[in-house]
Amino acid sequence: MTVHRPVRPAWTCGACGAEWPCQPQRQALLADYGRAPIALSLYLAAHYLDAVPELPDVPVAQLYRRFLGWARCASTRPTPDIAESRTGPDADEPQPDADEPLRNVRGVPRST
Ligand SMILES: [Zn+2]
Repeated sequence: MTVHRPVRPAWTCGACGAEWPCQPQRQALLADYGRAPIALSLYLAAHYLDAVPELPDVPVAQLYRRFLGWARCASTRPTPDIAESRTGPDADEPQPDADEPLRNVRGVPRST
């Protein structure tokens, strides 16, 4: 297994050479911290704070997106195992009334 660690002060990946955190490292972090998004954010924030003074030519907003922005977006998506555990109807979506007769596309009750 390849370890995608940052090479400092350039903050490139020691394994693939991409900007750190590279895509493989992001996937690994999501797998490691999947159920602890706050811990992941703290981990990434520590690296972000180290990177800001070491990459003075990179705008801080860009570094924020690179180190933290992706994780925030990723953590708001449901993980596959959570999505699969949903068995009932979504409470936010209107559900058809079981007593209401089936209607055709014009809204006219269908004769049975
Ligand atoms: Zn890498």
